[in-house]
Amino acid sequence: MSNTPSPTRNSLEAYWMPFTANRNFKDSPRLIESAEGVFFKTTDGRQVLDSASGLWCCNAGHCHPKIVEAIQQAAAGLDYVPPFQMGHPKSFELASRIADMLPGDLNYVFFANSGSEAVDSALKIALGYHNKRGEGSRTRLIGRSRGYHGTGFGGTSVGGMVNNRKNWGSLLPGTDHLPHTHNLDENAFSRGQPAWGAHLADALEDLVALHDASTIAAVIVEPVAGSTGILVPPQNYLERLREICDRHGILLIFDEVVTAFGRLGGGSASEVLGVQPDMVCMAKGMTSGTVPMGGVGIRQHIYDTYMETTPVGVELFHGYTYSGHPLASAAGLAALDVYQGEGLYQRAAELASYFEDAMHSLKDAPHVIDVRNLGLMCGVEIAPRQGAPLTRAFDTFLAAYEGGVFFRINGEVFAIAPPLTSDKSHIDQIVDGLRAALEKVD
Ligand code: PLP
Repeated sequence: MSNTPSPTRNSLEAYWMPFTANRNFKDSPRLIESAEGVFFKTTDGRQVLDSASGLWCCNAGHCHPKIVEAIQQAAAGLDYVPPFQMGHPKSFELASRIADMLPGDLNYVFFANSGSEAVDSALKIALGYHNKRGEGSRTRLIGRSRGYHGTGFGGTSVGGMVNNRKNWGSLLPGTDHLPHTHNLDENAFSRGQPAWGAHLADALEDLVALHDASTIAAVIVEPVAGSTGILVPPQNYLERLREICDRHGILLIFDEVVTAFGRLGGGSASEVLGVQPDMVCMAKGMTSGTVPMGGVGIRQHIYDTYMETTPVGVELFHGYTYSGHPLASAAGLAALDVYQGEGLYQRAAELASYFEDAMHSLKDAPHVIDVRNLGLMCGVEIAPRQGAPLTRAFDTFLAAYEGGVFFRINGEVFAIAPPLTSDKSHIDQIVDGLRAALEKVD
């Protein structure tokens, strides 16, 4: 049994929870007391399987002893060092290890504290890069419809989810969006990268024709869109985006906040899919979700531009009080030790085909209209209830949680991304849990 006293409605009131139906949650809270491996333990003493690695973060499983120990030791030894004009060894070591993990000449790492900050940092670095090269007219930032790049003003502006955009005024000026790649008529129940859709990248040529390349700084996309329900890039789509960017001197940024650190069976989507971006945004799996941290992997030519055009003094007027924080750096190093020492990227790659077959077995479950997957990411999309969108997915989420499996829902999509430490029995439990919950809801 749990030692945690049951909360009262009032004791929950003060916390304005993010991206949550606050009143509903506080009326019937779902509180977690502890976690271990692939399981949460609720405050009422139940074990709940985590099918989403928390929020795409806990790739090494929860409370991995080696990461826990590294954090405990770091907290006791060095609480804080200013990251401006000062440093501590672990942040430099972590940058080197991440740069080694990233493909090509992504040789530099800038540290932030979240995915949102990583994205805003990358967008600013892109604008500064062009400015310093004498191409200051390149200010336009291009995102994609149904993209999610966090909640900063930059990330919101290039993001493409209407509820995240519509309340905050005009956002950044001079952004535009590519069309998304989701098309159930063409691609329903695809396994891996769908065959249809590479031509959608050509919309970037249309934006170049409309705005002129001389006004465009960067394109940012998630290689596999996560928060809008796992949109797997069509074959050759990312390659085509890369070609068009190269043709027009536009930087290509991959937002790999979800896909880096093993999710697709390698260090990054860039590596697994073989497309080299100019910058990579990271967070989440960077510390296996244990301590907030984000970062940007940056190619040599961008770093060189800043250095060469700034002969003395500060080259980049941007940073955070907690960039490369000692605790986060220690957690990041320990997470990499675990990923590499336990071969977790390889393990994810090996589990991916079992995961794919298991997930696609849900094709005949009630309400399911699509299953799509890549690596250890899968979206199971269900039909909305007539006249009551999102309610069926939410009721299914509640039924599954009661049944012992936690799912992350994005709209009408169950976004499944288990810890890389999962085994086949956990995958089976996820499939059975979702099917049982879908059978319970109308
Ligand atoms: N970018 C992507 C692709 C994400 O999925 C997320 C979060 O889910 C973010 C950025 C924002 O990260 P954070 O919530 O750490 O700010």
